This record gives sequence, C-alpha cells and structure tokens, in this order.
Amino acid sequence: MPYFDMFRSLPAFLATLSSIAMLAAMDPLGSAQAADDLPPMKLERVGKDVYVIQGQAGQASSANAGFISNAGAVATGQGLVVFDTLGTPALGAKMRKLLEEASGEKVKVVVVSHYHADHFYGIQAFEGKDIEIIAHPKADEVFNEANTKNRLAQRKQDLFPWVNEDTKLVLAARKAKVAPGKNETFKLGRYSFTLIDGLGAHAPDDLMMRVDELGVVFAGDLFFTGRVPFVGNANPRIWLAALNRMAEKPPKIAIPGHGAVSHDPQKDLDLTRRYLDFLSKEMAKAVANLQSFDEAYASIDWSGFKNLPAFAAANRLNAYGAYLHAEQEALKK
Ligand SMILES: [Zn+2]
Repeated sequence: MPYFDMFRSLPAFLATLSSIAMLAAMDPLGSAQAADDLPPMKLERVGKDVYVIQGQAGQASSANAGFISNAGAVATGQGLVVFDTLGTPALGAKMRKLLEEASGEKVKVVVVSHYHADHFYGIQAFEGKDIEIIAHPKADEVFNEANTKNRLAQRKQDLFPWVNEDTKLVLAARKAKVAPGKNETFKLGRYSFTLIDGLGAHAPDDLMMRVDELGVVFAGDLFFTGRVPFVGNANPRIWLAALNRMAEKPPKIAIPGHGAVSHDPQKDLDLTRRYLDFLSKEMAKAVANLQSFDEAYASIDWSGFKNLPAFAAANRLNAYGAYLHAEQEALKK
C-alpha cells in the first residue's frame, strides 16, 4: 500500500486494532484463541470405536495448561459415551470438538471417574440438556467437601488463566446404581457399558467403566500401566479388592487415568497386585516388630520393584501410607 494510503487509513486501522483489543479484554479465555494456546492434543484410536486422549506426565501447571490426565470416549452409533473431561474447561471443550469431529457423533453420556480436579474440570464444556452426566453415588459428598472448594482456589492460582472466575464445577445429575458388590449396566447404540464401584480405593467416588463387547475398561486412577502405582494414603488392601472387581471379566485393554494405555492388562494387574501385596505385608511385619517407618523402609529389599518407572517418585509415599494403615489395623486387633 502506498505511503499516503496507509496514512489516510491509519485512523480506521487504529479503530480496528482497538476493537480487537476490546474484544480480547472482554473475553480473556476467548475460546478460539485459548484453544490455540493449549498443548497439542491428539486422539488415539483403540480399535474402531474407542478414542483415548493421553495427557502429559507431571504436575498440573499453567505451562501444561493442566493437561496431565487421560480421557476417552466410545462411539456407539447413537452418540458418544465419554469417560472423564480433563483438567480445565478449555481442555474439555477442545476434547469434545475433536471427538465429535472424528466420530461424526454427538456426546450423549459423560461418566466421571471421580471428582479430582485433574479429571473433571473440563466438565462445563459438556453441560446441557442433551447430555447425561453420571457419577458414583458418593460424588455429592466429595463435591461438597471443603477440599473441593480449596482445590478450586488453588487451581485458580496455579492454572490461571485456564482456571478462573468463570470456571464452573458441575455435579453429575445422575448417580450410578452401583455398590461394593453391584454393577450397573446401561446400553447405548451397539454397546453395553458396565459401571463398576471402585470401592473408594483411591477416592470415595471411584467409578470404572467397562465396554462389555470390546473388553475395554476405563479404570480412572485405580490402574497404571507398567509402573509403580501412586497409592498415596489409600489402603492397599482395598485397592487390591478394587482391582479384583475390575478384573472380574478380564479386560483386553485398560485405559488408566494417567499414562499409557495397557494392551496387556493382565500383566499390569499382576504387577500392581504383587506390589500392593508386598507393600501391605512388609508394613504389617514392620508394625508387628515395632519398627519405626524409617527403619522398616531402609531394611526392606525393594529390588523387585526398584527399576520400575515411578518407583523413585511414588514408592516412599506409598510405603508410608501402607505403614499407617498397618498401624491402624494392628490397633483394631
Ligand atoms: Zn485422582
């Protein structure tokens, strides 16, 4: 453009610039722009109808936009059944768009694995009259805990601007008809979905979902592929029981809440069982021998697990949790 033209149109140009700036200020999480700033997200296909989105390793931060957990979906021919919604509204919205584009189907059902921030903060992108959101019967209790509110305040700081004043946490309107010994099965399109109670092993409202015809289990935070699980202060014995519930019909594929999909769940389940069993037996022994935790930890031969991924990050915490549970159990006797 010749110089004089540019000069003549400058006021118009400035006006355009300022209206763009105003628009941006009015909509700080402007959906299109925010979506572009998110880490790359891709859909992994597991067979014809199952989609998995795998988050990054590590802690949630503004840098990774809270993209640290997995989610997935099943195309049924009559709509998508989604399992978990990722860790921020923008991630949830992006995930929904990718899934609907790839499958050519609309989301019909959302199942919440448990109300931990990294797994459900995308949920507002799925709210609406055409989508049924399902969670464990204990979800109300967890949702209303002080912890849930404190976590939101923390996320507004750590995940700004991805979690902000407009972030809305949504409680599932429908509760799964599950109990420790009872599953719920519902059908949509060509598949039956079985909801399985996680027995509160990791969180009070753990829920797993099996796609019966495909032998695929969405396991939430109860299952890990090829690594030491993060048990924290959960009771290893209850965790073992939950894994047995998960394996009642042995799955062909298991999708964890974090990390890679397992194509050999039996092997991963055996490893996790062996680990949890070892942890609870060794800690029960330590408590019976009146050893302190540090003493016990130092004297245990960890060589069976030491070379596994996540051992350094998770083992000591897991062991400490198991020690406290062993103490409690000893007191009960
Ligand atoms: Zn969790």
